[in-house]
Amino acid sequence: MSEAASNTESYTHKPRVAYFSMEIAMENDIPTYSGGLGVLAGDTLRAAADIGVPMVAVTLVSRTGYFRQAIDPQGRQIELADDWEPARYATRLQATVALELEGRQVWVGGWLYVMNSWIGEGVPILLLDTDLPVNDPRDRDITHSLYGNGDAYRIKQEVVLGVGGVAMLQALGFKLMGYHMNEGHSAFLTLALLRRYARPREGLRPGESAYDLPLVRQLCTFTTHTPVEAGHDKFDYDLVRRIYGDLLDLDTVKLLAGEDKLNMTRLALNLSEYVNGVAKRHAEVSRQIFPGYVVHAVTNGVHASTWTSKSFATLYDQHVPGWGHEPELLARADRIPNDLLWAAHRDAKQALLDKVRELAGVSLSADQPILGFARRMTAYKRADLIFTDFERLKRIAAKFPFQIVMAGKAHPNDMAGKQLIETLHRHIRELAQEIPVVFLPDYDMELALHMVSGSDLWLNTPLRPLEASGTSGMKAAFNGVPQLSVLDGWWVEGCLEGVTGWAIGDDSPTANGHDAMALYDKLEQLILPLWYGDRAGWTAVMKGAISRNAAFFNSHRMMRRYATEAYLR
Ligand SMILES: *Cc1c(COP(=O)(O)O)cnc(C)c1O
Repeated sequence: MSEAASNTESYTHKPRVAYFSMEIAMENDIPTYSGGLGVLAGDTLRAAADIGVPMVAVTLVSRTGYFRQAIDPQGRQIELADDWEPARYATRLQATVALELEGRQVWVGGWLYVMNSWIGEGVPILLLDTDLPVNDPRDRDITHSLYGNGDAYRIKQEVVLGVGGVAMLQALGFKLMGYHMNEGHSAFLTLALLRRYARPREGLRPGESAYDLPLVRQLCTFTTHTPVEAGHDKFDYDLVRRIYGDLLDLDTVKLLAGEDKLNMTRLALNLSEYVNGVAKRHAEVSRQIFPGYVVHAVTNGVHASTWTSKSFATLYDQHVPGWGHEPELLARADRIPNDLLWAAHRDAKQALLDKVRELAGVSLSADQPILGFARRMTAYKRADLIFTDFERLKRIAAKFPFQIVMAGKAHPNDMAGKQLIETLHRHIRELAQEIPVVFLPDYDMELALHMVSGSDLWLNTPLRPLEASGTSGMKAAFNGVPQLSVLDGWWVEGCLEGVTGWAIGDDSPTANGHDAMALYDKLEQLILPLWYGDRAGWTAVMKGAISRNAAFFNSHRMMRRYATEAYLR
């Protein structure tokens, strides 16, 4: 790429919405994401690029990425470096801005990556970077590692993202009509805005604040993703002030972010006019955690062409032309002939079988159903739920043979998540004679597409109400793969029993304990008999997933809602 192409000038002539996210999955080979939050941010910007919503995104460059996952012979996760070279994909920004952290001046530079679209205008993404020769060696790694260790490091990262991001946008001459915080990590941006729009002290009446809270609130949108209080970033005030002494006066900050700890979510809530959860159920739960705030619901969606396998994209091109730009057209998927739909699925399944052979050295059968499960390996997602009762599982497999393909990374500090990976590998060995189960290492976007399209059934078993939305089941729907899931997150809205997929258990909060039994019952009595005995019935459910789920749970619909309800208010 030429130096001239690094110019951000072509993006500054019209007002944009600045979208801040700690992680953004721009493309598979750029490891600046750890899971659903980053993939959602990427899909949001892909949709904005398609539709032409004027946005500019801000994130950290995360040069050392998240990590690459390998599995040792005992089934334990090994974390390998995953460095990437920004210069291969992005060009240097023409500005640097300065912050003061721990009393040292820290310069923040960055990179321009353009999210391109074949139907619309590209969206610029600024990747902030402190790895500059002028900086103290202690500060050069602030933007290196995604979700790095310790509160001090996290605070520095979040100050660079929020405060550095606002300064960088200004230095580059961006005109902004609003700021969208994707999760609370970027909430320091509100303090930067309060300072920028502060009224001069001289004109103030006694007791009147210099800060124009209503103005900043009017500018900000906040999307929360975490349905548990403990999941939100909370920092010690002493630590924050030691690192970022430049904070506004403490009384004002405590009023906005909490008395005892600096709660990034509260800060964002108090300074955002539009606040939303990522599914209707999640918005309800958020209202309970944070009473007194108006929390809207904008249910997540995934990007149509990114999450559709080649064989299904070809099928849609023929039978539902225009689906990439207007995914709602997939409501007409019923017109696709059953045999062609099945053939497209067989192709996607073959691609997964090839991948399984390549990565795990195991040959699975094309003539038995594959249950797919892949997500971050963390306790609440209960990857091991299906293994609750081995004897029951074996009895089901004796009648209706099936295979299981799993994948997922555990955060390096998530001991329970890592334990889960080991446990899964023990189950794999124990079941080897009866049920083929494989765990594919290094879950990423590419592997995700293989799995959501090549499985026959997509499994999702989180502990309610901890799955704010979940998005992999939406990706499966784009590939005609129905979901079997607990009624949490988006599935509360997406599940039409026996039409788009199936529910595990009911919707009551006490049902968690019975989920394994409910899962076995559905598999044994409904799903596997249908797969083996009634191909027309099965393809009808595949079409239901496409026409009623993919047609709605896509990021084009989501982006249009953000544009009309949050950005243009
Ligand atoms: C879609 C995706 C996720 C999120 O899936 P959930 O269903 O929300 O858990 C995580 N990681 C990758 C690589 C993905 O593609």
